[in-house]
Amino acid sequence: MKFGGTSVGDATCIRRSARIVSEAAKQHRVTAVVSAMSGVTNRLIDAAHQAKRGDREAGKALTEALRKQHLEALDALTGSPEGKIPVQRRIEEILAEASRLYEGTALLRELTPRTLDAISSLGERLCAPIFAAALAELGARGDAIEATELIMTDSFHGGAEPLAEATRGKSQKRLGPLLKEGIVPVVTGFIGAAADGALTTLGRGGSDYSATILGAALDADEIIIWTDVDGVLTADPRLVSDARTIPEISYREAAELAYFGAKVLHPKTLRPAVPASIPVWIRNSFAPEKAGTKITAKGKSIGGGVKALTAIRDVALISVGGPGIVGVTDVVGRTFSTTAELRAEVLLISQSSSQNDICFIVAKAHSQSALAALRREFEQDLAHEVVDHITMDPEIAIVAVVGENMRGTPGVAGRTFHCLGQEGVNIIAIAQGSSETNISFVVSDHAVKQALLAAHREFGLANSQPG
Ligand code: ASP
Ligand code: MG
Repeated sequence: MKFGGTSVGDATCIRRSARIVSEAAKQHRVTAVVSAMSGVTNRLIDAAHQAKRGDREAGKALTEALRKQHLEALDALTGSPEGKIPVQRRIEEILAEASRLYEGTALLRELTPRTLDAISSLGERLCAPIFAAALAELGARGDAIEATELIMTDSFHGGAEPLAEATRGKSQKRLGPLLKEGIVPVVTGFIGAAADGALTTLGRGGSDYSATILGAALDADEIIIWTDVDGVLTADPRLVSDARTIPEISYREAAELAYFGAKVLHPKTLRPAVPASIPVWIRNSFAPEKAGTKITAKGKSIGGGVKALTAIRDVALISVGGPGIVGVTDVVGRTFSTTAELRAEVLLISQSSSQNDICFIVAKAHSQSALAALRREFEQDLAHEVVDHITMDPEIAIVAVVGENMRGTPGVAGRTFHCLGQEGVNIIAIAQGSSETNISFVVSDHAVKQALLAAHREFGLANSQPG
């Protein structure tokens, strides 16, 4: 069971989440994975950047604020000094480390990816012992464990990849005996360790991924991601008021949705669960009576084939082209080797057969560096007008229509574009993978809501979902 930042946001939330775990632990072997208290990771990272600029106060101020916040939560959650004192001591140890990291950064005015990982992981490390203490108050036995002991990764700081076999060995050896004794391991999400022992992180929002990595390593029967929404919805309810919870969807559909910015899951979350077909649930820790969404290999088919819509907004469209690139075979290859070198994930690609233009989408966070790198890569071609433009448009968004059963269902694309046309929504680029599980298109950012409303209505998504 994984609990996200809002599910451990304060003492009340932690108690509610701990109760979910302690109830489940009466009947099952449960491992808990926790995020940092909500907002903490952002604050840690902001202060790290301030320290890098030489600011010696930001880290101090944040360390103080975190001490107060975590000790207050601990106080509210624990009654007896035996429960409290060891956790207080642990919190102080972690905060002392925080102070040293911030001081070192401010002194050197240097923030390496490795140091940034050490800093950004502090929130999870502070939270896990408090959660374990909350379990103890409820009569369960919890044991806080840092995932550096369990999840082995490569050494790509800031977005490390897990090493499945090594993780399996470590996790079973360390957690197996605890689980057998009825103890609930409370593991820090987001964190792993490289072969040299250095702490790594799995990328922002990576605690979901931690949960499925561990679930797979422990051969779990199921993985439950407890969050602050009811499950996977047919569309973002802030934009589409009659969006509904989807009772069951397939790994593939959920991955498409996650990838395309339905912020319920970290995009890599489902990968570890797929080979072993472990069901992954998305449930609301604030409303545990609701069933949530179950993600399985097959999903459950509903009429029409379209299951959900999603939009991704913090993105930019880059285009590389000009008449000169016709017949130049290496432009595509060089374009994407350049983005790959930056580890800038490409979310959508479209190229017309005239080959005048290749356009693709990257996260806004990567757009400036991608643009600069492409201009360097094609410097000569630009000078000789083989490539006549490399441009970037940040005022756009991707909308995706997702559903595994639309494969082989003719007419979905037609209906989609027809209804958008009727709304007067202009389409800038289109892509459909040959897997046919999604049709995605690029629209101007201000047309997103209109596009979602039109397609939600067209495919009857407010009514078609049972449950
Ligand atoms: N605390 C980390 C973050 O905010 C990981 C997570 O919450 O999943 O990115
Ligand atoms: Mg989070």
